[in-house]
Parts: sequence; C-alpha cells; structure tokens
Amino acid sequence: MIPGTEADNTSAPDGNELSAAQYIERLRRIFDRYTSTRFFAMLNACINCGACADACHYYCSEKDPDHIPANRAKQLDHIIAEYFHPLKSKLGFLKPGDPMANPKFEKLYQAAFENCTLCGNCALNCPMGINTGEIMYVARALLFGLGKLPSGLVDPVNTTLETGNYLGLSDEDFIDTVEWLAEEMEEDMGEGFAIPIDKENPEVLYIPHPLTLRDLPFLLMDELKILAAAGENYTLSTHDFDTVNYAFYQGSKENAYTIAHSTLKAREILNAKCLALAPCGHGYRVLNHEMEKIMGTRFDFKIYTLVELIDRYIKDKRLVLEKDRFEGPITYHDPCNIGRRGGVIEEPRNVMRALTTDFVEMTPSGVHNYCCGGGGGLASTGSLGGIRQRMGKIKADQIRATGAKIVVTGCFNCKNQIRDIGKNYELDIEVKSIVEVVAGSII
Ligand code: SF4
Ligand code: SF4
Repeated sequence: MIPGTEADNTSAPDGNELSAAQYIERLRRIFDRYTSTRFFAMLNACINCGACADACHYYCSEKDPDHIPANRAKQLDHIIAEYFHPLKSKLGFLKPGDPMANPKFEKLYQAAFENCTLCGNCALNCPMGINTGEIMYVARALLFGLGKLPSGLVDPVNTTLETGNYLGLSDEDFIDTVEWLAEEMEEDMGEGFAIPIDKENPEVLYIPHPLTLRDLPFLLMDELKILAAAGENYTLSTHDFDTVNYAFYQGSKENAYTIAHSTLKAREILNAKCLALAPCGHGYRVLNHEMEKIMGTRFDFKIYTLVELIDRYIKDKRLVLEKDRFEGPITYHDPCNIGRRGGVIEEPRNVMRALTTDFVEMTPSGVHNYCCGGGGGLASTGSLGGIRQRMGKIKADQIRATGAKIVVTGCFNCKNQIRDIGKNYELDIEVKSIVEVVAGSII
C-alpha cells in the first residue's frame, strides 16, 4: 500500500462480479484519487487550435482527425459528464448507466490504451500546456477499475506481483545465469572475473532487464562489461532483478508502487549509494519521476539509466572508446521516457560522438522526438502489433531521411519496435542498444 494513503481497493476485477452501482462507486473513488486541479485545468483549457496534431505520431502517420490529441481527451469528457460532473451526472436523461455495458468505455479504451502511448509530445506543442498523455492516464485508471485492460498489461504485472519479476524467474535461475555469464566472460575480462551478487555497501546497485537474463544474455554481458571496464563498485541483487514496471501503464499507481518498492527496498538492504537501471524507458520513468510523486517524498539517492553512467565514465576517462568500429551513418532514437520525460538528451549524444565520427540526428530529435509507437505498454500486447506498425510510419520516415545504417537507442521496447518497423517499411538498418555499440568500442 502506498504510504500515507488508504488502500484504494481498485485492483482490477476479473469480470462482471460487481453490480452496476458498485462499479460506479468504484469509478468515483478512482476518479477522485487520480484527478487534481491541474487535471481539470488541462481538461478545460483546450482552444481547439490543433497545434498538438503535428506532435502526435498517430496523427503524423495517418493524418486521421480522430488521432488529433485533443479529440482523444473528448472521449473522457463524455464519461465525466455521465458519471462525475456535479450537475450533468444528476440530470435524469444523463443518468449514469451500467459502466460494463456502456459503449462509451469501449471508445475510451481505444483512445487510452490503443491510440495513445502517453508519450507527452503533444504537451510541448500545446500553447495551453495540455498533456493528453496525462489525461489519458486518468482514463486508463478508470478502465483498470472496470478490469478493461490489454492482455499485455495483465499477465506480466500479475507475474511480477507473484514472483518479483515479470518473467517469473526464480532466485536460482538468476544466480545460475549470472554465474554462467561470469564463466563466459572470463576469457574476455581475465581469469577470475566475477559478477558480484548482493554485495553490501556498493556505489551502484544495478537492476537488469529480466529478458537479458532469459533470452538476451549477450546484452547483459555488454552491460556488465561496461561496468567492469569502468571499474565500477557495483552489485546485482537477488532482492530485485527486474527494471520493468508495466503496472504503471495499467493505470494502477498502487501496483506500480508495489513493484517499484521492491527495487527501492533492495537498495536499502544493500545500502547502495545509487540505483542504475538497464536500458528501459518506462522502468526509468516509473522509478525516477513517478515514484517520488506517488510516495510524496524526495529520494536522497540518485537513480540513473545506464547511459548516464556511461557518459560520466567517458568524461572521467574510466572508459576509453575507439571511434568508428561501427560503420556509420549512425542515428540515435530518444526513448520518450528517457529523453523528453527524463531530460537525458545530451548524455547519449556525448556517448555517440565518442564512438563515431558519423553521427546524424533525426528531425525532430531530442525532447521533441516522435514516439517510436511501442510506448505506453503497446509493445507488450501482441494483438496491438498492427496498430503499432501503422503508427510507426512517421518514425520510419524519420529514420529513412537520415540515411543511417545503424539506429541506436536506450530502451528495449524502442529497440524491438524500431526493428519491426525497419522490416515493415523496408529500411536498410541495423538496430542496436546503446550498450552494444559502447561495449563493442571499448579499447
Ligand atoms: S501523449 Fe503522445 S501518443 Fe498520446 S496524444 Fe499526446 S502525442 Fe499522441
Ligand atoms: S494544442 Fe492544446 S489547445 Fe490546441 S487543440 Fe491541442 S490540446 Fe487543444
């Protein structure tokens, strides 16, 4: 339970087990909890200027007016009028209907879960500062209360809540894999190379992505090679080895808190000075920007995404890279949650310039970069693959215009999504994680 709050009792129901009145009561509770003065200001400030359209990768990919961000927010307006507006909701002809049978919620589901990745780019174009992503987050919270969620945001979260990581790996799986990786890396890193687990008082507690433990060990080896080459005093931990937190995208701050808390607790147990997270945009967003807001506190330690540490290692000459081992042109895709939300814009560019003389920017890039189309939890739901690919067209156009041979990024979901759009839009590109090009350039 989030400290200082009452249990919100909003865990997603399995089906129609509540009466209509009970569902309405549940929605009211969630609405009160997830809205603020800022939310209502955003909801009522729209002047219909349309400036948000060109920031949204959905609209830019298909030019469909339904994909103008301001129009998504209107889907929530209809729900508010029916269920929560102090006057309208009491008018007889607008008597709130059974939410489980109300087609307005189907439209809201499309707007919030399928047609918005919560990327926040629209807010930068809006003269009124309206962030449709934040409005759609409230919509997700309401839909969560009705149990209306994409499958890709249900199973991984339930598995994490049950086992501590979204793949359900056991501590034994984790330790076996790490010991095997250490053996595999010994030839490259020197005899006796070891990967610390549960070391106390380290500088850095490193939280990997479980997919690298199960399916992509070469990526975890690259991450560990970087930490070891820089001489970092780090550890991995059995207390937490999952940087992923899909619960936030469900619209459940309660679940997001429960999952994030285990990472925070692991740091506390080991007395690590800071946390560093494997390249994962949303995991970084949840721990680095959302948890302090949810918990109403300020952390007295830093939370980094790995590229921030890499930039520092290069500046401090703890890591020396050889230029142009990878043939350019090379471009960099800014994950929304790391760039726009996290402000980590210059660090990856410093790193790219340290390893290539042929770096090219997308237009736009940095804080204004278009979402790849896989954010907001869309990447985790197979049935949303079609819409992800259609809405990735603007990203494909951006990449093609750079002439890049390699696209580098700092997020697993972005990497997979760009790999898929590369195939679908016949781009002649390789897509690499930033850790691959850094580890492959270490002298
Ligand atoms: S948050 Fe992103 S995806 Fe959602 S409406 Fe705004 S620009 Fe479009
Ligand atoms: S840019 Fe802002 S004010 Fe203009 S239509 Fe979009 S949300 Fe409304």
